[in-house]
Amino acid sequence: MDPVINVSPMLPLDAVWQAARAHPAYAAASLSERMPSPGSTLWHGLPTLRKDSLRLHATAGADRWQWGTMLYFTSGTSSAPMMLPLSAPDLERIARYCADMTRLEEIQPGARVLVLLPMALWAAGTVTVNGHRLAGGHVFPVDLHGGPETWQRYADIICPTVVSSTPSVLFRWAARYRGPPVRVLETTGEPLSDEQRATIASGFGGRVHDAYGLSECVVGAECRMGNGFHFSPQAVIVDVLCPDRDEPVPAGAIGEITLTSLMQEALPILRYRTGDRGQLAVDTCPCGSRWPRVHHLGRIAQTWLMPRGVTASPAEVLEALAAAGFGGCSAAWKETENIQALEIRGPGLPSPERLAAVLACELPHLGELLNENEIFLYVRDTIR
Ligand SMILES: [Zn+2]
Repeated sequence: MDPVINVSPMLPLDAVWQAARAHPAYAAASLSERMPSPGSTLWHGLPTLRKDSLRLHATAGADRWQWGTMLYFTSGTSSAPMMLPLSAPDLERIARYCADMTRLEEIQPGARVLVLLPMALWAAGTVTVNGHRLAGGHVFPVDLHGGPETWQRYADIICPTVVSSTPSVLFRWAARYRGPPVRVLETTGEPLSDEQRATIASGFGGRVHDAYGLSECVVGAECRMGNGFHFSPQAVIVDVLCPDRDEPVPAGAIGEITLTSLMQEALPILRYRTGDRGQLAVDTCPCGSRWPRVHHLGRIAQTWLMPRGVTASPAEVLEALAAAGFGGCSAAWKETENIQALEIRGPGLPSPERLAAVLACELPHLGELLNENEIFLYVRDTIR
């Protein structure tokens, strides 16, 4: 019996293809009139899209956006963040897919869902809230400001049966959680370690379901087996390619996860390289779902994992500094039991306050953490 019923149809493949053909981000790809079928030789002969080229054109064609288009930030996982337009129908399709995923997690209508995610800059909070609403949940969106004591106060009032947040937030809260068991803990936005999973499950007295997705494309979620992310081929096409060339790896082998979204038209996502290592599962899942699964195995390039699900790469930080006139620097991420800090070394660097303002301007996802003292900035001027 397939636990996922009522699979919602998303965009026809051809609609995504025609939207891509009309979009400047795909101009260099010279897409033919007809879309090759996914998985075919012609499909694998198509070029892939990387974040740098997507960023150049992400907000192009604004004059054609439908009324109700929203702009969200992506995180800076592989380079500086970018703005990402999502039309009202795009957001609705993504929300319907998120609602489908709640069935994988065996969340019933009427669940009391506390969504503890950033609600403004990124789409993750919005689509999680809307997905649970469509699935018939009573949803309580709460921003991430504050700490375990603040979150506990909300929980005392809301009495959630589901909490949706990042692994690091739930891990921090788990030891201090007081209240009735929370049946389902949804995690997203960061890799979930075995230790975090065990601590969250025992602290809240429920089952942990991790979800995998990017701002550019929601991918999938775990069933109760917790062995890979189930995804709907009607919502997302997952290819696993060689990291250095546009060729698929053999079935079940490890490569770069590459996504095609069947949910988005405002900015079509066609064969988009995620920078994530992964593999497609070749076995069937004992849960009975017919949705295939993908395993996520970390990043291909070096990435720093920061609080609140924020990620940054050394390259994007150095790029931001160079753009502000501070070239020749080096950057390191320092993590101790009590302090998480970004260390910048270089010639002629200004005060930490000034440099934090520079970084906040170029990389708003880092700026928020710096402004709220979630992370610290050490500046070492190598000339002084
Ligand atoms: Zn399963």
